[in-house]
Amino acid sequence: MSALINSKLPRVGTTIFTRMSGLAQTHGALNLSQGFPDFSPPHRLAEALGEHAMRGHNQYAPMAGLPRLREAIAQQIKLHRNVAVNFDTEVTVVPGATESIFCAITAVVQPGDEVMVLDPVYDSYEPAIELAGGRAVHVPLVPGSFSIDWDRVKASIGPRTRLFMLNSPHNPCGSVISEADLDVLGDLAEEHDFLVCSDEVYEHLVYDGRKHCSVLTHPGLRTRSFAHFSFGKTLSVTGWKTGYCIAPPELTTELRKVHQYVAFVAVTPVQHALADFLEAEPMYPSNLAAEYQRRRDLFLSALSGSRFSWTPTAGSYFQLLDYSQISDEADTALSERWTQELGVASIPVSVFYETPPDQRVLRFCFAKSDDVLLEAAERLCAI
Ligand code: PMP
Ligand code: GLN
Repeated sequence: MSALINSKLPRVGTTIFTRMSGLAQTHGALNLSQGFPDFSPPHRLAEALGEHAMRGHNQYAPMAGLPRLREAIAQQIKLHRNVAVNFDTEVTVVPGATESIFCAITAVVQPGDEVMVLDPVYDSYEPAIELAGGRAVHVPLVPGSFSIDWDRVKASIGPRTRLFMLNSPHNPCGSVISEADLDVLGDLAEEHDFLVCSDEVYEHLVYDGRKHCSVLTHPGLRTRSFAHFSFGKTLSVTGWKTGYCIAPPELTTELRKVHQYVAFVAVTPVQHALADFLEAEPMYPSNLAAEYQRRRDLFLSALSGSRFSWTPTAGSYFQLLDYSQISDEADTALSERWTQELGVASIPVSVFYETPPDQRVLRFCFAKSDDVLLEAAERLCAI
């Protein structure tokens, strides 16, 4: 019998996040795998969602997002990045950054185009590139520091390079880029005339006095980039699936052409609640880094008696732990075994590579309450 469907994504299965969270649930493990907070969002934000639903804000919002939320977003960008964006022509509210990244790729990648991705690469990019008929060109980050090897990037640029996928703070590594990185990228993008898709969902989670470097603040990149953000990360509401994309008008027009037929809009009462919150507490994101750094440090100091090794993560809410002193087992097998036997779930890093390097590293999410982090660390110390 012939197959019913010739799969367009033959190499894709269920995401590692779904699988590891499922396994954690089955075995009652502490879930440090999938990236989401186990604590509540700000009380007034959750309260506002209920109020808006009760007040009748339950029908479609405008396709690009509620004007009041887009204005609040533009004010946030002015306040936190000192960049002026036009809320009408440059801000699109979307049902999660995953959707806007998909829409941006779909909007600009033509069949046969090449899109540069840096390994380990966030899992949603390549399927979107393939569905658009493009080809992902994988360039590994430098092992250990997970910084960008610009010589390898340069060597991989070709006449069909159309788009560059940037992600800082980085998932899964937690590395962050510098202004110098943006300068190199800006020069390359101009010279070779490609666009940039910048995933900045962890923009407010950067530690030890570092600053987030955004394509929005780089004059050369600002004019040729889609920048993607997620309220899920900033306001601890990953389940609300709401984010936004900032791009110059010409790119925003193309993004919206796709967005209006993928999702059409983001959820209305959620948009109202977010607008209320941003208007009332515009400085809220500024306090996030200190709180997450505290959680990172709590987790790492509790691990000090263990046989893991690490570099404290520079950004995101993920910490990589090297287990090469403990085991030679592959990270995929080990993360499953430890979920079952130890009751601590993590994410193997090798799955984000085209060609995994010889490293023994697992990713742990520290967006968890103190008692969960301490209990997980205790179990990891006992290995
Ligand atoms: N990019 C990265 C790097 C992420 O980690 C995530 C989600 N965890 C997303 C995009 C997607 O964000 P959203 O939930 O808003 O779709
Ligand atoms: N981005 C989250 C993570 O890295 C998970 C989101 C998802 O499950 N798609 O864990």
